[in-house]
Amino acid sequence: MADSIFRVAVVGSGPSGAYVAQELSEQAGLDTVVDVYERLPVPFGLVRYGVAPDHQRIKSIVGSLAEIFAHPRVRFLGNVQVGTDITLDELRRRYDAVVVACGASADRRLSIPGEDLPGVSSATDFVAWYSGHPDTDVDRFALTAETAVVIGLGNVALDVARMLCRTPDELRRTDVPQHVVDVLAASTVREVVIVGRRGPGHAKFSNKELGELGELSDTNVLVDPHDLTDDQDGAQQSPLTRRMLATLHRYAANTRTGTHRRTVRFAFSRTPVAIVGETSAHGLKVVRRGQGTAETEEVLPAQFCVRSVGYRGLALPGLPFDPDTGTIPHAQGRVVHGTERLAGVYVAGWIKRGPSGVIGTNKQDAATTVAAISEDRVRAVEPRRQAFEDPVLLLKERGIDAVEWSAWQRIDAAEEIEGRPLGRGRVKLHERGRMLAIASAR
Ligand code: NAP
Repeated sequence: MADSIFRVAVVGSGPSGAYVAQELSEQAGLDTVVDVYERLPVPFGLVRYGVAPDHQRIKSIVGSLAEIFAHPRVRFLGNVQVGTDITLDELRRRYDAVVVACGASADRRLSIPGEDLPGVSSATDFVAWYSGHPDTDVDRFALTAETAVVIGLGNVALDVARMLCRTPDELRRTDVPQHVVDVLAASTVREVVIVGRRGPGHAKFSNKELGELGELSDTNVLVDPHDLTDDQDGAQQSPLTRRMLATLHRYAANTRTGTHRRTVRFAFSRTPVAIVGETSAHGLKVVRRGQGTAETEEVLPAQFCVRSVGYRGLALPGLPFDPDTGTIPHAQGRVVHGTERLAGVYVAGWIKRGPSGVIGTNKQDAATTVAAISEDRVRAVEPRRQAFEDPVLLLKERGIDAVEWSAWQRIDAAEEIEGRPLGRGRVKLHERGRMLAIASAR
């Protein structure tokens, strides 16, 4: 017999998974309990491993996410990879509903020659490295280039550019691992060029993030005024775009010269066509188009190239997947395969709607998915599952110790202690083995 508790498994502990857990624990009735599965030993997904380390105000959202995971009817189960350690079918047999909120962890590619040369990286990799992601090699980046290009006009491109320009003092005020501070402090990069295939009026930056570049303590920000006149479809511009263009005009009027250590330069309306270099990247070949002018080819010198052209979701074993959008097909959050519904399986977050929006966007998204779960629950004529066998026991039999909330709190405390001898606040742990050893020490 099924027990009378309504049991939901959420796959992924980033903001989308957390908001689904919150919505379920607060809205779906007192008989609802939620297990949140996370493949890493630590929670918070993209807030921990995607939000830029110098954005401490945004990162402080972990305080409210932690309250969600500490809720008495929510259980955090870290260090469990769904699809490998436990299958989706095993979860479906044990829970009334499974919500996949595993985000979009892969990167999109440019598909141009030279993309795999040494010296070329995805922003996903670079962000994971400076965020201390346990799956990234400590030595992954050396930063011996003189000039870096960042391809893409989104907020991640700005994050990457800012991190390449931060001073050692500014970096020490973040929680990045010490090896990241050391490599960035010794970086020889002097110029960072942000390259976009479209004009400034079509950039995806938020104005706040764009304005932050101008506040960097030792960096000059330059925009070629011609790039701004090339892109003048003013009538169609939203107020947000107009504000962003005003910031770019401010940079175009910038006359700061001389003593700054680094420069950030924008290069709009340039489509990347190849990364040039024999044994490693030497430059980015672009095709430039101006309004009413012929296309011209140029090579922007760069020994470090970061493509920041968006994230992409990955298929999960046992679930339908749309490779074009990198998302799981759904109707109102209910997973569908063609016209068929996959009973009891739902999606939320970037794997549902693609990699867009800010953290808060996931709240509304979670509410829609949870509304579908509640509706299906009311309509159900018979319980979907049999008696509850705790998956934690099954995992133990397989030699996997799930990291529960109290164990994460030990890792959390260790990160604060880690910073003390370095004269820093929290310093992130980045080795999985060490995290697990701390998690299991009582
Ligand atoms: P994004 O905002 O979608 O920007 C991707 C950029 O890559 C666009 O400029 C796009 O240009 C360009 N691009 C795509 N394919 C390209 C190609 N083949 N060649 C050249 N350029 C190409 O993605 P993102 O920067 O990864 O950000 C993801 C989401 O996270 C966004 O919603 C973002 O706002 C959010 N985020 C927010 C913050 C914050 O609030 N502080 C920080 C980081 C990220 P086209 O427009 O021409 O396609």
